[in-house]
Parts: sequence; C-alpha cells; structure tokens
Amino acid sequence: MSYVITIDNDKCNGDGECVDVCPTEVYELQDGKAVAVNEDECLGCESCIEVCEQDAITIEEQ
Ligand code: SF4
Repeated sequence: MSYVITIDNDKCNGDGECVDVCPTEVYELQDGKAVAVNEDECLGCESCIEVCEQDAITIEEQ
C-alpha cells in the first residue's frame, strides 16, 4: 500500500506537529512549511492528520 500526501500550504503554519508525530520521519520543515520528503515511507497511520490543528494534511491510498 502506498499513500499520496497533500499539504495545503495556505493552511500550514509550520508548527511542526506532523514532523514530531510521524513514526517514519516523512516530514521536514522547509522555509517554515511542512514538506513530505519521505512520502514513500508513509504507513497511513493518520497520526499527522490528527495532530494538525490547521487541517492542512490529506492522505489518500494509491
Ligand atoms: S500517516 Fe502516519 S506515517 Fe504517514 S505521514 Fe502521517 S504520521 Fe507519518
């Protein structure tokens, strides 16, 4: 199973909650915004969606 991660840059405030919570280090902050640099490692656990108060993250199964 692989996942497609979409981050709404207009909503992301760069608080880094997704960076901290992700068990497989999918995210990195770049210029104050979250970027899914290791999308291939995503397990689909949706922890990042739960902690994102801005609702900036969408994950779809591929
Ligand atoms: S769904 Fe889980 S594994 Fe995938 S990016 Fe979010 S926290 Fe990381």
